[in-house]
Amino acid sequence: MLELRPNCECCDRDLPPESAQARICTYECTFCADCAETVLGGTCPNCGGNLVARPIRPAAMLAKHPASTRRILMAEGCGPAKAA
Ligand SMILES: [Zn+2]
Ligand SMILES: [Zn+2]
Repeated sequence: MLELRPNCECCDRDLPPESAQARICTYECTFCADCAETVLGGTCPNCGGNLVARPIRPAAMLAKHPASTRRILMAEGCGPAKAA
């Protein structure tokens, strides 16, 4: 099950569970659409995987399985993934 993290790891913008602007990678590193597209070029800077739109959990299910409230922010700022 997705954690549905509450913010962009890059710019710390709020990304509530119903936000259509949230982008995630396979490990659920979470970014906003702006950072995903303009700063990161569609690639997760943590794992190198692709970023896709985060599915919206229906409100009834959100009541049952609430979104995470633990904010995660990249400590050293964020930018495109470095070549391995
Ligand atoms: Zn952002
Ligand atoms: Zn990742």
